[in-house]
Amino acid sequence: MNIEKKFDISAWARPNIREMKPYSSARDEFHGSASVFLDANENPYNAPYNRYPDPMQWRLKEKVAEVKGVSKECILLGNGSDEPIDLIMRAFCEPGRDSILTLDPTYGMYEVAASINQVACRKVRLTPDFQIDLPALMNAIDGTVRAIYLCSPNNPTGNSLDRESMDYVLEHYEGIVVIDEAYIDFSTRSSFTQVLGKYPNLVVLQTLSKAWGAAGIRLGMAFASPEIIALLNKIKYPYNVNQLTQEKAFELLENQAQMQAQLAQILFERARLQKELTSLPLVRKIYPTDANFILVDVGDADYIYQKLVERGIIVRNRNRVTLCVGCLRITVGTKEENDALLNALKTI
Ligand SMILES: *Cc1c(COP(=O)(O)O)cnc(C)c1O
Repeated sequence: MNIEKKFDISAWARPNIREMKPYSSARDEFHGSASVFLDANENPYNAPYNRYPDPMQWRLKEKVAEVKGVSKECILLGNGSDEPIDLIMRAFCEPGRDSILTLDPTYGMYEVAASINQVACRKVRLTPDFQIDLPALMNAIDGTVRAIYLCSPNNPTGNSLDRESMDYVLEHYEGIVVIDEAYIDFSTRSSFTQVLGKYPNLVVLQTLSKAWGAAGIRLGMAFASPEIIALLNKIKYPYNVNQLTQEKAFELLENQAQMQAQLAQILFERARLQKELTSLPLVRKIYPTDANFILVDVGDADYIYQKLVERGIIVRNRNRVTLCVGCLRITVGTKEENDALLNALKTI
């Protein structure tokens, strides 16, 4: 058992990122209280939005720290999780030379970010029960692989990945391991934020876009060692989370009871949908889910998708995705929305 894993960030960071001097804003250079701010070329009118927001979002981070049980130096907030997905690649992968590893099928943004950064994206196919093929994954690691992106619960399959396999990757792979927990609140599994202290190469991603019901405000969270967070802070846009988002996110996180109530409703509806879908003749199989969506094998997915569109109901057609032939990905909605879906499926 590896008790104290070592991670030498200076050996893994791209040299130009390690050496660069970050932009220093007016907000970075003066800390403290004052009554006259003439340092940032802001307009003196239209308060409070005339002022640049806190580039480090400390007030919001303190709230996130309290809700998530992670210290604030271990948090990076971003413009959705899409931002940290990209920042990690820019910090650790040399364009034209390095690669990342991910699973297939999984969330599409890892490959998109890799393409933009000219980083090769190697995909290791999941087993038929949508689990990590551990020998294949470990085999795919070579000197170019700088980061492994795992998504659990996984999108679009909905299941959680085996804890033992993820622990094995964290223990045996020396580079960055990203665990995307966008759907963790819908699952009964514990978050990897609890083992941040054990794995200095771990980055956990969460978001306000799903369980917190705030995809529109764009707030993603990355949790990692203070060293990794400091490196990502160097390369993020200085004001990457705007003032309105910082305020709204704070308000949402203060009201955990509301989130829990919505979550309970969604989980109730998920169970009902699973049960009702199973009894429909056109449904061949329902895959287990730990997320707020269900992957459903309906056979002729293109046809069913089109029929649902004609009735004004939009689901995600995953028919052309690895291991998902015949499948639709259905998000759990309100009772009324789910009833509309079920009624439509009954009469197609
Ligand atoms: C929805 C989703 C996210 C959220 O992305 P945001 O940019 O925070 O909205 C992240 N990862 C996965 C796997 C998702 O499905």
